[in-house]
Amino acid sequence: TIVLGIESSCDETGIGIVRIESDGALTLLADEVASSVDQHARFGGVVPEVASRAHLEALVPSVTRAFEAAALELSDVDAIAVTCGPGLAGALLVGVSAAKAYAAALNVPLYGANHLPGHVAADTLEHGPLPSPCLALLVSGGHTQLLRVDDLATKITEVGSTIDDAAGEAYDKVARILGLPYPGGPPIDKAARRGNPDAIRFPRGLTGPRDAKYDFSFSGLKTAVARWVEAREGQEIPVDDVAASFQEAVADVLTAKAVRAATELGIDTMVVSGGVAANSRLSTLAAARCAEAGITLRVPRPRLCTDNGAMIAALGAHLVKAQVRPSSLDLSANPGLPVGTVTV
Ligand code: ATP
Ligand code: MG
Ligand code: FE
Repeated sequence: TIVLGIESSCDETGIGIVRIESDGALTLLADEVASSVDQHARFGGVVPEVASRAHLEALVPSVTRAFEAAALELSDVDAIAVTCGPGLAGALLVGVSAAKAYAAALNVPLYGANHLPGHVAADTLEHGPLPSPCLALLVSGGHTQLLRVDDLATKITEVGSTIDDAAGEAYDKVARILGLPYPGGPPIDKAARRGNPDAIRFPRGLTGPRDAKYDFSFSGLKTAVARWVEAREGQEIPVDDVAASFQEAVADVLTAKAVRAATELGIDTMVVSGGVAANSRLSTLAAARCAEAGITLRVPRPRLCTDNGAMIAALGAHLVKAQVRPSSLDLSANPGLPVGTVTV
């Protein structure tokens, strides 16, 4: 069974092709990503109209490249999954419209898929089926959530989430404060490796005894970095030390809360995914703390952490395997799709 996955929720046009083997295992056959990130860099964030237009231009050529890479024809497709939310409305619509056209033309089932469980599904391409239950720490540009995953296709429950900025958003804003390029994750990660993580003690949001146990807050941390830098106006800023100290605060809070949730909920497997899961310090600290707590940690390779079509094809494959009812051809984009709604 061949599943085509289409992703266009933000600034990456992703086309993935996954085969469901006779034993149920998933094989990744193609993973094409065309990014419009360079077009947004000078604005310091994604410009929705620019992203939509870039998707429109990149989609069909990316599909062509994916089928070439997989040595398959469009007519080999048995099911299509497309991100229908959450994300930018105009960007989502490009993928959804294309997927509907392909599904109608090929007469195959269509699944409107939720981008967030898609990030978790990416890990199954690398490490195989998820045990049930597992705890997912989803850390991306727009979301920071702890999810209890009983079944990727049918049962995902939010355990905690950020009350303000997402972790990736904090990376992007702090990069701007430090004069580093957009998106901020990779350059901060790089600068942090040269810096001292103990140089500055930045605040750990929502870690007080009376704070919501599994929720996150990163806006205070971002403000603290901004204040620290402003207070030294005219002086040379030790960018590497600020980056390392900021990164340490983020990784500390994320891993402490995730391990605490897993322990208290009696869950022994943790998956970290989404763009920030590509962060070197986060994965190292998560590995150390999970090992200490007897939790099995799974982190997909960086390429599968950031947005791509393979993760949507993977989620589609799980929906097919679980025999979930396909979406109707009236499918539309839902920019605010809640995480528990895996398909619509
Ligand atoms: P969402 O999935 O919530 O809709 P998104 O799809 O835009 O948001 P992703 O593509 O999953 O987000 O992740 C992008 C984010 O990951 C950006 O904020 C980027 O700065 C961050 N990121 C990428 N690489 C790293 C890294 N090595 N360290 C920290 N953050 C990173
Ligand atoms: Mg992106
Ligand atoms: Fe994403």
